[in-house]
Formats: sequence, C-alpha cells, structure tokens
Amino acid sequence: MPAPSTLESVLTCPHCGFASTETMPADACVCFHECARCRTLLRPKAGDCCVFCSYGSVKCPPVQQARACCADPDTPPAS
Ligand SMILES: [Zn+2]
Repeated sequence: MPAPSTLESVLTCPHCGFASTETMPADACVCFHECARCRTLLRPKAGDCCVFCSYGSVKCPPVQQARACCADPDTPPAS
C-alpha cells in the first residue's frame, strides 16, 4: 500500500501572491485554477502536470506516489 497522499496544498497565485488552501482530488490532476482574488487563470508550467505541481506547496497525489497521471494515462505505472 502506498503511503496516504497529502490532499491539501496551498496554491500561491504568481500574479498577485494570493495564497489559498485547496483540496486536491486523490486520483486526478487539476489543470486550471482561478485565483479567488485577481481572477487570473493559473495554468501548469511547462513540464508540470497540474497547477499544484507548479504553484502549490504540495505536488498532486499522482506525482507524490510516482504514478502516471493525466500526462500519460495509457502508460501503466512502473513498479
Ligand atoms: Zn491572483
């Protein structure tokens, strides 16, 4: 059994610096997030699968567990 993933991540808006605690889905990636303060639509940086990997304090659960996620859904996870 893999260790439980951390499902809360603090997203920091790169535009205005506003930080908000968001709960991540355990088995999916969140590719877009709208900043609650400045309404900037955050998108993942190149090479990152989701906004939590780019702007969050904690990376998304699939990445925490080194599993394949939305970037390559047809590849079975290496074990
Ligand atoms: Zn913002």
